[in-house]
Amino acid sequence: MIKKITAIHGMHDYLFPNTLLWENIENIIKNILNNYGYQEIKLPILEKSELFKKNIGEYTDIREKEMYTLLDKNNNSLTLRPEGTTGFIRAIIEHNIFYNNKRFWYNGPMFRYERPQKGRYRQFHQIGIEILGLKSPYIDAEIIIIINNIWKKLNITNNVFLEINSLGSIIDRKEYVKKLIFYLEKNSRFLDIKDRKKIYNNPLRILDSNHKNIKELINNAPKLQDFISINSINKFKELCQILNFMNIKFTINNCLVRGLDYYNDIVFEWKTNDIGKGGSKTICGGGRYDKLIDNMSNRKINKGIGCAIGIERLILLIQTIQSIKIDIKFLIDIFLIPIENNHILQKTLLIGELIRNNFPKLKIITSYLFQNLKKQIIQANKYKSHFIIIIGQKEIDNNSIIIKNLYLKKQIIIPENKLISYLEKIF
Ligand code: ATP
Ligand code: MG
Repeated sequence: MIKKITAIHGMHDYLFPNTLLWENIENIIKNILNNYGYQEIKLPILEKSELFKKNIGEYTDIREKEMYTLLDKNNNSLTLRPEGTTGFIRAIIEHNIFYNNKRFWYNGPMFRYERPQKGRYRQFHQIGIEILGLKSPYIDAEIIIIINNIWKKLNITNNVFLEINSLGSIIDRKEYVKKLIFYLEKNSRFLDIKDRKKIYNNPLRILDSNHKNIKELINNAPKLQDFISINSINKFKELCQILNFMNIKFTINNCLVRGLDYYNDIVFEWKTNDIGKGGSKTICGGGRYDKLIDNMSNRKINKGIGCAIGIERLILLIQTIQSIKIDIKFLIDIFLIPIENNHILQKTLLIGELIRNNFPKLKIITSYLFQNLKKQIIQANKYKSHFIIIIGQKEIDNNSIIIKNLYLKKQIIIPENKLISYLEKIF
């Protein structure tokens, strides 16, 4: 017995027709990003571990328990990227591309050692956008408008809701965290062991805890909003005004803190209640990271903002509410059937190439099954083929071709030299 080797827990294969839905969604997102002048950047999946260790924040979920870290043959510590922003900034610094006003997007797999469940995997995919060098709330709004337009095109606007918050500057936050720790220490008896551990490491994350029994504790906690500077408050207000002006619905959630330490000022998340049980799930999250680039280089850019969409969660939502229907009436346009024999095969090869050259968008398969015609037609139906073209000795002798519309169940015989003009009428 050969032992079956299975995929790694939490990592998935994606099969047809999900791949088709995925491609559709990706294309919709890419077209919109292109429309706003964003440029693709392709980044490595593996990075030096220190990149993430230094920049994501010591006491975040990712750093504490989710990193996929391994040693290479030279004992270098490498990590499969858990998110896109830090690798993006690394690349920007490395290539010295600090042009203000430049906008980027990336697309690809991320890796986090999480407990796998619906919408939470160990390998998942994100499409992210990043902008450096701009501080206007109009650019914060642009990102939100873009994502909002993506939801519109995907027909999910009514199934997602936007929450925004301001975290203030990193200095404001430090002052606040001191007060919060003091408060939580005093009330630590209300917290479970897991949250108690967070008091000194990541007290902000206690605030977005879902535990019902500490809701009151959270409600009475000192508010970050009382600590943030007037400058941050004004930026936040301006963003809210732009969103109102653009008729984009949002709610202000002062408990929204996000899972990474590098954020400041504006943070936002789109959530949905429509995938699986267990409350709302975030499908896109982002915010400002003005200090990240300066922390990683000697530059004083002091401006950066980005967000990432979780593709699997988006697909789960779209599948649940059926907001995009994939038309799989015909998967193949033409299924070419040679009736066996070498020189018929050669003829079929030529005809196949001729049609493909004239109709580069059509999907054309040549059958090499060499079974009887009936069985091959069954195959063509299984492939959801629209037409079949049959080429046999008789057809070659007569310079003719049999074309059958499998959907209408109609067949005609045409002269070979009329094939392209005939197909032009159909496609
Ligand atoms: P969560 O609070 O759900 O763990 P997060 O704050 O860790 O999310 P981000 O780091 O903001 O998530 O990543 C952006 C998006 O990527 C999320 O909103 C989600 O859609 C997706 N995502 C994050 N982790 C996973 C995962 N393990 N599996 C699938 N998608 C994920
Ligand atoms: Mg997480």
